[in-house]
This record gives sequence, C-alpha cells and structure tokens, in this order.
Amino acid sequence: MTATILDGKALAGQIRAEIGEKVAQFTATSNVTPCLAAVLVGQDPASQVYVRNKQKACEKLGMTSQLHTPPADISTDGLLELIGRLNQDPTVHGILVQLPLPEQIDEPRVLDAVHPLKDVDAFHPENVGRIVQGRPRFLPCTPHGIQQLLLRNGVETSGANVVVLGRSDIVGKPMAAMLMQKGPGANATVTVAHSRTKDLPGVTRSADILIVAIGRAKFVTAEMVRPGAVVIDVGINRTEAGLVGDVDFDAVKEVAGQITPVPGGVGPLTIAMLMHNTLAAAELQTAR
Ligand code: NDP
Repeated sequence: MTATILDGKALAGQIRAEIGEKVAQFTATSNVTPCLAAVLVGQDPASQVYVRNKQKACEKLGMTSQLHTPPADISTDGLLELIGRLNQDPTVHGILVQLPLPEQIDEPRVLDAVHPLKDVDAFHPENVGRIVQGRPRFLPCTPHGIQQLLLRNGVETSGANVVVLGRSDIVGKPMAAMLMQKGPGANATVTVAHSRTKDLPGVTRSADILIVAIGRAKFVTAEMVRPGAVVIDVGINRTEAGLVGDVDFDAVKEVAGQITPVPGGVGPLTIAMLMHNTLAAAELQTAR
C-alpha cells in the first residue's frame, strides 16, 4: 500500500486566498490595514529566510509588515524596550519575535512582554491558558495548520488515538492541548511521547494519527507506524541530502494511509496560519 499524500502546500494556497479576501473586506470596512511587526535579532541566515517569507506572505495578502533587526548582542532590557514600543504602536497589530534568540536574552521574559492581543504566535501564558481551557484567542500557527490539514482532508479526530511525539512549547504541547478539546478537529484520545518515553515504537504504533515534532532526521521508521495510520511530519532537518523531515518518508509511505511530505507539508500551513492570526489580531484591536 502507498499512502495518500496530504498536500500542505496546495491547502496553504487555498487558505491564503481565503484570508486575502477577508483582508480586503476588513480593510474596506474599517480603513485599517493589518500589520505584522517581525523582530529578528542578529543575522542567522535561516531565520532571515523565515522572516522574509512571512513578510512576503503578508504583502501578497494586502497586509503590511515591519522588520526590526536589533544587533545580536542586544540586552534583554533593550529588546523589552523595543517590544514595549511595538505594543504601544496602534498601527502594529501582530508582533512576531523570531526564535531562537541569542543566549544572553531571557527568552520567556521577552515572549511574556508581547501584548496578548498582538501575540500572533500564541506563546503568551494568557493565550496558552485560554487554549488549555478551550476558549482560544489565537491558536499557535503550526498546530493550527495541522488541525486544518486534518479537518479539510476529512481525517476523523473524534475518538481517534493520536500520538504527539515531541513536547515543545511551540508544537507538541499546544497540539496535544488542542486535540483533547471538545469540538471539530479535536475530541481525540491524546498521548504525548518524548525522549523519556518507554517502548516508543509500541506507543507510536498505537496511533491512528501520529504527529511527529522532534527535530531528528528520518527518526520514525516504518516499524513504528501502524498500517493505515495518518502520519504528520513537522520536522525540518537540513542534511547533506537536502531538507528532510523527522519521518523516513520513503519507507513510512509504504505503511501509512496518509502522510505529509517535507517540504510541502506542514511548513507552508504554518505561515498561512500566521497570516490568519495577523488578520484576527487587527480585527480584535479594531473592535475595541
Ligand atoms: P524541540 O527541540 O523544542 O523539542 C523536541 C522534542 O522532541 C522534545 O520534546 C524532545 O523530548 C523530543 N525528542 C527529541 N529527541 C527524541 C527522541 N530521540 N525520542 C523521542 N523524543 C525526542 O523541537 P520543536 O518542537 O521546536 O521542533 C521540532 C521539529 O519541528 C524541528 O525539526 C523543527 O525545525 C520543526 N518545526 C517545524 C515547523 C514547521 O512549520 N514545519 C515549526 C516548528 C518546528 P524531551 O522533551 O524529552 O527532550
């Protein structure tokens, strides 16, 4: 059996087109253009590419963007001062602090300083708490993209055994919290696995839906996947052979029922959902 490919790139294009229409309507009725301010500390080439792609996506959908590039040796206080200014600026609706931050920066203090209504990454504790309580303001971009991918491809999550491999604050934890809620694209029985999990292949084989976010190239092998399972690969690993996911795609696609490729799976959806949150932030701030 060869798995059906879940095409994240095509779906992201569709979602971006929907958002573009909503942006046009919003701007026409409110006279406000949604604006995303990106903060990129230092000169990391991969981060520069990510931020540039996010800015381009904004511009294509009729939104504006700002880029703030403090030097790599900026202090936590210096960065907090910049975030404070962006919080106060009524023309800025979303603030994105590109991670990772340099070692001298107190990352939690910086992320906590982003105004919760401008927190388009949904990293602020207030927004995380709201997700856990099932009354989200913003959903974090990567888990939200995965949920949309499942919903729009008709993958039933209600009652499904979902294994989330990885427990990061950015992907694994919010993904698990979202899938355990009541409602569409959720109602799953969720297991979170990580580096201390015993009998990991046994755990991953119990999954109807396996979501992998660990940052280890081709870690998930065919033996770790139940025949017919849906496999979502979040991993982005740069290897000599190019960009690969956390799943051994060629082997696992022979076992799985449906699978996301890398690239062209989860990545494009992450940016699309950032656009969704930027518009949502502008709507929230304009309604006040
Ligand atoms: P983190 O490094 O923050 O977390 C990795 C998690 O994986 C940890 O919970 C860790 O366990 C677990 N883990 C690591 N090694 C193993 C192992 N051998 N067995 C079991 N569990 C393991 O990663 P992120 O969540 O930030 O990112 C994961 C991957 O997803 C990366 O490749 C990243 O580039 C990619 N990514 C892709 C995005 C996209 O848009 N497509 C967006 C965000 C991330 P423990 O907690 O026990 O240490």
